[in-house]
Amino acid sequence: MSARPEEIILAEPRGFCAGVDRAIDIVEHALAKFGAPIYVRHEIVHNTYVVNDLKAKGAIFIEDLAEVPPGATLVFSAHGVSKAVQAEAEQRGFRIFDATCPLVTKVHVEVAKLAREGYEFIMIGHKGHPEVEGTMGQLDRGIHLVEDVADVARVQPEQTEKLAVVTQTTLSVDDAAEISAAVQARFPLIRAPKQQDICYATQNRQDAVKMLSREVDVVIVVGSPTSSNSNRLAELARKLGVDSYMVDSPAELRAEWLAGKKRVGLTAGASAPEVLVQDVVDRIRALGAVSIRKMDGIVETTKFPLPKGLRIGQQ
Ligand code: SF4
Repeated sequence: MSARPEEIILAEPRGFCAGVDRAIDIVEHALAKFGAPIYVRHEIVHNTYVVNDLKAKGAIFIEDLAEVPPGATLVFSAHGVSKAVQAEAEQRGFRIFDATCPLVTKVHVEVAKLAREGYEFIMIGHKGHPEVEGTMGQLDRGIHLVEDVADVARVQPEQTEKLAVVTQTTLSVDDAAEISAAVQARFPLIRAPKQQDICYATQNRQDAVKMLSREVDVVIVVGSPTSSNSNRLAELARKLGVDSYMVDSPAELRAEWLAGKKRVGLTAGASAPEVLVQDVVDRIRALGAVSIRKMDGIVETTKFPLPKGLRIGQQ
């Protein structure tokens, strides 16, 4: 067995999705148009490099709206916000730009529409994740969170005739399918979305890791510890029997992880920039890898427009 890595195989697709691209663009356009500081509620996307880069350009990240001075410009992060946060921001009179990913907004719109028809909801997601807080906060009441199959047995809706299920967009596709099947087995009348709420980017990156895991001896995921979809990529590779590690920066990559591993798979969560991937490539090369290959994979073309007021040429 070789003591040093020989080949790097890059997953395709990997890294930034359309929602992350748009969210970062919104902060950058707001900085260019209105000048620093621009306040951002929560990390715009869950990536340390991106957040530090925007901080250096004049963004200030806050959790509590009381930290934002009157009249300031405020951006909501890609994860979305509750109705209460939205109302408080409006009441405080900020100039607001909403960087909520349109695929999260789609879930919010669906919840609002079905709630008007009298539906009660079960949400599949991770407790405490800002997207889950934002989606559950679309209604005052009537959303029950389930994190796993065991929770499904415990959930106590008030009625079962008008029940709908929604999911966080960045879950493990396989785990969500299992939990969703348990929900549908317990509540056969429940209304499920026509298409899974899990977004195309999460689905595509997980599919790519499944393919990658068949070809490599270890999978390195570039992503921050807070990033849900990045964690799911490392978890998926491990489930498939391949060692996997997540790194927030090239400095975190440990040489012993690659000892005895000929082929190193490399991917990145939807919030991790390609510049970090290339820095990690350089670090693996320094440890011995001589060749690099890109897997075949889906070419993503999804793009989301900027909000009104930030588009080029608009006042
Ligand atoms: Fe939107 Fe999916 Fe990207 Fe999240 S991971 S920002 S839901 S496209």
